[in-house]
Amino acid sequence: MTQRIVVLGAGFAGLWSAIGAARALDELGVGAERVEIVVIDKTAWHSIRVRNYEADLDGTRVGLDSVLGPIGVRRLEGEVTGIDVAGRTVAYDANGASQSIAYDRLVFALGSRLAHPPIPGLAAHAFDVDTYAAASRLNAHIARLGPDQSTVLVVGGGLTGIEAATEMPGKLRAAGIAAPRVILADHAARIGADMGAGALAVIEEALGALGVEPRGGVSVASVDAEGATLATGERIAAATVVWCAGMQAHPLTAQFPVERDRLGRLPVEPSLKIKGLAAEFAAGDAAWFLVDGVHCSVMSCQHGRPMGRFAGHNVVCDLLDRPMLPLRIDWYTTILDLGPWGAVYTEGWDRRLVSQGSAAKRTKEIINRERIYPPRSGNRREILDAAAPTVQAPPVRFG
Ligand SMILES: Cc1cc2nc3c(=O)[nH]c(=O)nc-3n(C[C@H](O)[C@H](O)[C@H](O)COP(=O)(O)OP(=O)(O)OC[C@H]3O[C@@H](n4cnc5c(N)ncnc54)[C@H](O)[C@@H]3O)c2cc1C
Repeated sequence: MTQRIVVLGAGFAGLWSAIGAARALDELGVGAERVEIVVIDKTAWHSIRVRNYEADLDGTRVGLDSVLGPIGVRRLEGEVTGIDVAGRTVAYDANGASQSIAYDRLVFALGSRLAHPPIPGLAAHAFDVDTYAAASRLNAHIARLGPDQSTVLVVGGGLTGIEAATEMPGKLRAAGIAAPRVILADHAARIGADMGAGALAVIEEALGALGVEPRGGVSVASVDAEGATLATGERIAAATVVWCAGMQAHPLTAQFPVERDRLGRLPVEPSLKIKGLAAEFAAGDAAWFLVDGVHCSVMSCQHGRPMGRFAGHNVVCDLLDRPMLPLRIDWYTTILDLGPWGAVYTEGWDRRLVSQGSAAKRTKEIINRERIYPPRSGNRREILDAAAPTVQAPPVRFG
């Protein structure tokens, strides 16, 4: 009887899980008649989500069939709605109907989503860059702005908010707004303080050079079509409010009988198997473990991609009674885009400054346009080899 591995999600963790599983089966000489791999995603695309702040979104999606087809992975397009761990089935909606599929092993990789706190008007009026669809909507809105709609308020001074804000003056100018005003607001007193002292100075220099106004100590009370009202009662008039504050793991993580962390993530072993469960693995933003025995995995493609490769390899090993490989990642980097000014590259959990400006931007462009893409050649061998259960070296440095 054919056994089945079901992978939920085809983002950085899910796509690499599927390829990793196909690679492991190929290595073991096990054909699809013995073990089939099925991926379920609500779109037909692998989205390079980290590029959603960019002005030009062309090429930020890769057709899933172009990667999964050559390696014999079956794709189902549908919205996952439930997981029955006891019954080992997944429920999903496809073609307007509720369906279900049984699994022998599962990889949960439905990722994360932008948190939307219950702030009046936020859901109706704010834009975001969380998904390709949302980012496209924002860019289309900016292209339609008139000359008196020159202010953009970006809320959330984390990495995504900084990247969205530093790209924004250029987007507004391209839309014909000669004197754009971009405000980057956050609860924290200083924007970029989490990035360490070295990077903070670089971020502040870049914001200043680009004319982005940092506003610390801000709490948004409501949002409407003409701007935002702060908790202090102050009004910020803005034709565009972009919400970038906080991520939460996919809500379906609640369907597993385990305790999740404060971000809603599932606890996994270094093998990526969910702690305490027999047949379920998780990877990417929906999971957490101590990557080097000390530091917790971060919601990032930096961690999501190796988690995926190892989850895919290990789910096959577990199914076929082979030893699993623990994932350990001994390095951590942050390469933050700062728009036309450049970028900043830090290394280590203490975020030592490695490079900045155009040198760091070269690294960022290699990451965003090459390093994190699956092979686009359609070549089966090349696709499988790219998913070997190994940890890449840190991104290249320049300067
Ligand atoms: C603007 C931006 C910039 C970022 N910059 C960086 C960066 O510089 N470096 C970095 O490391 N990380 C960055 N990140 C974070 C990174 O994008 C995430 O950590 C990464 O996408 C997580 O991968 P994942 O596979 O877990 O989830 P995702 O990439 O979100 O993939 C989840 C997949 O599940 C699918 N899905 C979701 N729900 C369902 C459902 N119910 N049914 C079916 N399918 C579903 C989605 O369609 C998607 O394909 C950035 C994120 C954003 C938004």
